[in-house]
Amino acid sequence: MPINPPNVGLYACGPTVYNFAHIGNLRTYVFNDVLRRTLLKNGFKLKHVMNITDVGHLTSDADEGEDKMLVAVKREKKTVWDIAKFYTDAFFSDTEHLNIQTPETLCKATDHIKEMIEMDQKIEKNGFAYFTGGNLYFDTGKLDDYGKLARLKLDELKEGARTDKDHNKKNHTDFVLWFTKSKFGEQEMKWDSPWGTGYPGWHIECSAMSSKYLGEQFDIHTGGIDHIPVHHTNEIAQSEAATGKKPWVKYWIHGEFLVMDKGKMAKSSGTFITLQTVIDKGFDPIAYRFFCLGTHYRKQLMFSWEGLEGASSAYKALKNKIAEVDGSGKDNEKLKASFQDKFLKEINDDLNMPRALAVLNEVINDNNLSKQNKVDLISDFDNILGLDLLKQEEVEIPKEIQDLIDKREEARKNKDFALSDTLRDEIKAKGFVVEDTKEGPKIKKQ
Ligand code: AMP
Ligand code: ZN
Repeated sequence: MPINPPNVGLYACGPTVYNFAHIGNLRTYVFNDVLRRTLLKNGFKLKHVMNITDVGHLTSDADEGEDKMLVAVKREKKTVWDIAKFYTDAFFSDTEHLNIQTPETLCKATDHIKEMIEMDQKIEKNGFAYFTGGNLYFDTGKLDDYGKLARLKLDELKEGARTDKDHNKKNHTDFVLWFTKSKFGEQEMKWDSPWGTGYPGWHIECSAMSSKYLGEQFDIHTGGIDHIPVHHTNEIAQSEAATGKKPWVKYWIHGEFLVMDKGKMAKSSGTFITLQTVIDKGFDPIAYRFFCLGTHYRKQLMFSWEGLEGASSAYKALKNKIAEVDGSGKDNEKLKASFQDKFLKEINDDLNMPRALAVLNEVINDNNLSKQNKVDLISDFDNILGLDLLKQEEVEIPKEIQDLIDKREEARKNKDFALSDTLRDEIKAKGFVVEDTKEGPKIKKQ
């Protein structure tokens, strides 16, 4: 149950925009989209907030490594602002291709530096921060339940403090709230703060922006599972430290990873597949969405081109079946309602999309439903699935083929079936299939 029904506040960690999203990232946003659509279907009034991480951050979650944005600046010889704009646009082009709905509120980190500084100040005032070596750190030692989300074993983590590269930290798990002593002299994005000119630590943006748009406590927070041990753990620490330990988020929902046989797909490794690559290889991007929906979001999904090929064929077959859907039954409102309930039960059972797809197949194959019942149900289910199930591809028919079709129609009128069959074969040899229907010939690409 939400904190303030029927309103639901949902915060999703958004993309870092120093490179294209890879299809692993996009799997997480497909899962967010299904969650969003399911909440709306259940009648909740949704406020879905997603951030855009356009401040440079380090390649490792633990405040170490290279600054991701600076890596991109060197690679592309553009300003950080141009890079952020370019990859933000690319991200939304990808999400549009995947029928991912845009959240009600999008917020860029660089537009919320003031809010981040204010939250850092609250944390400092409440005694959870210390300033040393030019940076403001969060003191995880001050929280007795630090790491509760990930069930971290704190004694082991504190042990690690001695080996930590950053000797300013009191505890291994401490993290930076505000940097003034950047490890990178050429940092382009800098802002004034009470601690000096610098830039925010990574985690603070999500705490600051979620509280601005959703309040100090809200219902659902999502992200990929990689965020559990560090990013979300630190978001909780900051938010609860700032509000005087009010329990922050009611439900955490994490999506499992898309993996390849070589291991996880990661932006920083440089070996990632983008949606554009998928499209360039001739796949419909919605076939990738279909591929994602075939596995529960809490299970790892192994990506391979063969696997995607299989999903793509199944998706095409499904659409073809739907294009020809017929129903021998009469309109049956009771049966239709029972399928609606069944589908809703599956999506409400922790977003069980594989089983929801099975219900869709049952509908298509049920002889007791009328054609109209089936079309209504498919359309209803597609509001959640987002698979363009009833959208028919416009087939562009070359003039040469159209001429053959016209000739064949003429032959059929003249009852010259031998000629009509020969023409059908000729059309087929050129890659098109003619089907004779009550409404006239229907043409499909083979
Ligand atoms: P990023 O842009 O790197 O911050 O990641 C955006 C989202 O994608 C985050 O919620 C990550 O947890 C998620 N993510 C990163 N890698 C993968 C992956 N291989 N599979 C699924 N989700 C991922
Ligand atoms: Zn976040």
